[in-house]
Amino acid sequence: MIKEKKSGQLIVISAPSGCGKGSIINGVLEKNKNIWLSVSTTSRKIRENDIPGVTYNFVTEEEFKQKINEGFFLEYTNYAGNYYGTPRGTIKEKLDQGIDVILEIEIEGAANIKKLVPEAIFIFILPPSLKDMVKRLKKRGTDSKEKILERFHTAYKEINEVTKYNYVVINDILEDAINKVDAIIKAEKCRVDRIEEVFVDTKEEEIHELLMEDDKNFENKNISEKLN
Ligand code: 5GP
Repeated sequence: MIKEKKSGQLIVISAPSGCGKGSIINGVLEKNKNIWLSVSTTSRKIRENDIPGVTYNFVTEEEFKQKINEGFFLEYTNYAGNYYGTPRGTIKEKLDQGIDVILEIEIEGAANIKKLVPEAIFIFILPPSLKDMVKRLKKRGTDSKEKILERFHTAYKEINEVTKYNYVVINDILEDAINKVDAIIKAEKCRVDRIEEVFVDTKEEEIHELLMEDDKNFENKNISEKLN
């Protein structure tokens, strides 16, 4: 009776570094085979846990700038001294195929996407506390003290932007946070503005006939059955 929009949903997830955003996204992807995580391009150095082509496509700063000039990016930014960008290519293709797309990007990029696609879903992940966030950054052991401090200052500023998002999820217990993001995505699928058409699929005469059928069945019963 209701025809839903077939296109996928664009889901933008932002979080300060050290919030466990990667683990949440992986958990959501495991639960949903119809979600695709966009792979950004970056000029930052490869970290130990990075898999080129999977976590990011790694390029030099010059290569990144060339791609900017070629109009390769839907949005891009310079974050903590490195370039990061969302390639425009596959995203529209996936959405048209009915596949949901997650963009895992920082706040400036999210604000630019909001201008382009205001109906996208914007989710902000927060750590249970700032202390917890610094602990996670230190534990990761991939950044120098100066870099951690820089990331912390950026994160501190970013947290004030949370009100520009549609949803906020605190990553206290990982499983709960995964379930919350999953629930948000599922609930968004039921939004009234995702209904393309409401149509009546049964004719009035058919309904009438169905009702008459019940009456006839009742008439055919003997008295004791009727009193039951
Ligand atoms: P990291 O270096 O820790 O992998 O990422 C640093 C920040 O860059 C994170 O907040 C991450 O969400 C953001 N980021 C990753 N890819 C993109 C992108 O394509 N565009 C924008 N604007 N930010 C990105």
